[in-house]
Amino acid sequence: MSSIEKIRHSLSHLLAMAVLEKFPKAKLGVGPVIENGFYYDFDFSADTCRLNTQINADNSHSHQRKSASNLRESAFGEEHLSQVERRMRELIKQNLIFKKELISYAEAKKLFKDQPYKLELIKELQKNKKPITIYKTLETVKGQKSIVKSQFTDLCAGPHVKSTKEINPDAFKLTKIAGAYWRGNEKNKMLTRIYGVAFETKSELDEYLKKLENAQKCDHRVLGEQLELFMFDEEIGKGLPLLLPKGYFIRRQLENYIYELERRNDYFHVLTPILAKEDLYKKSGHLAHYKDDMYAPIVIEDEKYYLKPMNCPHHHAIYKRQKRSYRDLPLRLAEFGHVHRFERSGVLTGLIRVRGFTQNDAHIYTDEENLEKEIINVIKLTEEVYKTFGIKDYWYRLSLPDFKNKEKFGDVKNKKIWERGSKILKKALKDSGHKFIEAIGEASFYGPKIDIQVKDVWGHEDTIGTVQVDYYSASRFNLFYTNKKGKEQPITIIHRAVMGAFERFMAFLLEKSCGALPLWLSPIQVEIINVGSAHRRYANFINQQLTTNNIRAHLSDENLTVSKRIREAEIQKIPYILVVGDKEVKNKTVNVRHYHRGIEGEIKINKLIEKIKTEIENKII
Ligand SMILES: [Zn+2]
Ligand SMILES: [Zn+2]
Repeated sequence: MSSIEKIRHSLSHLLAMAVLEKFPKAKLGVGPVIENGFYYDFDFSADTCRLNTQINADNSHSHQRKSASNLRESAFGEEHLSQVERRMRELIKQNLIFKKELISYAEAKKLFKDQPYKLELIKELQKNKKPITIYKTLETVKGQKSIVKSQFTDLCAGPHVKSTKEINPDAFKLTKIAGAYWRGNEKNKMLTRIYGVAFETKSELDEYLKKLENAQKCDHRVLGEQLELFMFDEEIGKGLPLLLPKGYFIRRQLENYIYELERRNDYFHVLTPILAKEDLYKKSGHLAHYKDDMYAPIVIEDEKYYLKPMNCPHHHAIYKRQKRSYRDLPLRLAEFGHVHRFERSGVLTGLIRVRGFTQNDAHIYTDEENLEKEIINVIKLTEEVYKTFGIKDYWYRLSLPDFKNKEKFGDVKNKKIWERGSKILKKALKDSGHKFIEAIGEASFYGPKIDIQVKDVWGHEDTIGTVQVDYYSASRFNLFYTNKKGKEQPITIIHRAVMGAFERFMAFLLEKSCGALPLWLSPIQVEIINVGSAHRRYANFINQQLTTNNIRAHLSDENLTVSKRIREAEIQKIPYILVVGDKEVKNKTVNVRHYHRGIEGEIKINKLIEKIKTEIENKII
């Protein structure tokens, strides 16, 4: 354990100490180290119950009030965080010592007799014949080495700091409380988890908190609400996003953009149904390898249908529709394919992890000869797309099979061919000059792949695009082509998704720009603000001019003050704000304010239109 982890873990003990002082009946769960900090789980129900009965048993008015205030105190809330934090600081300054002891099972059970969760852990350690260690937090007499009293004892494997002297009292903070099931099992009791963050220095903490604040502000779920882009509805179902007009507008722009680009790169777009019969997924291997991620079947006229988790088998059916010759290859079939995957409710995250989404999917059917060239072309296409959106902070991950993992790769018959595919992917990355990391065991069940990875605003890693080689489906689906010698050969398939899922891509763009999307993607590009009703006619004229030039403008609500309207447009992150008053009417101009560039001042309307059109055309970020 690194020194910062020891500090974080020691803070979790101090947290438990401070909480127990205020809530002596609290039952302790566990308090481990996590990324950037620590947490501790508590069960506060003992205090609450006791006070509840007190209220019921006591009818005197004054007592009732007192009890009620006690009750409020008993349930741990956000308001207690700063008190506990303060107490932890005091404890740190006492230079408390952490001391490890090895004790017997019997001693442990006696020591933790009032702590049911600890007892459960002790019994488990005993069952597994694991030793029991405890950590005592001890107070020393001023200036002397002799120890006078133990302040707190926890069941713990350690390690810890030697003394709280090693902890900077100003470099930690309790951040939030949340519900958490005991041992992460939803059948168990819900405990109260108190989270904290800790660093070695205050400046590191400040920097982290600033990042956290930014993440909270730029989280796509927050922006989705603020900018009215998408919503979820419990009645419709978890993980099933509804795009609102502005959100769909952005989605449509993304689709139009990639459609045009793919057309220019000789892709042919198709549209296939969102479900298919059971046999198809038996054949494709999805039911053997991917069933846990699929929805349960729907029975129609005694036949089982599954919502498609991937578009591949549907595209294979299109490939098979006619005999293919080497002259037809490579064949690139693309689809904005609507797929459904079963994600557990606990992992659903806004538009990043959903149950129904649309992939920017394509399958390239090629002979081995063209395989590498096609992979390089996909990488080039990906780069072009990411450059257009100003995405720079992505990296490549080469995901290879782990043949020791029998469950996932056990039925791979021709390992040599997989190895060849892995080699070609690696070569394509190298030849196109990319750095990449290798991930053994992350390959898909049908072949090795390149994943394009990004981090969201919280620092969580996610796959945004993918290029996969498939040596599995050709034989399963009997996909052949006739080679130059007139011989039938199995086809090689590349699965690729450049933007991945449109939903996730949109979430990523929103977080990256903190909602201030590039001009060409903005649902409203220009907000027109007329100072008074006398300027309404002129504002209408401007609006009409912009609309005629395919610029999306909106007239602001005259009933609000000018400053309020400017603020509102800024909250909506509208790129251009045009203010028109007496001067602008007289000069046939507008007064321009740009979201990023600030006040740009008075400009002739024709000149502005030309400028905006150029910016849209060049997809200025
Ligand atoms: Zn510990
Ligand atoms: Zn596929």
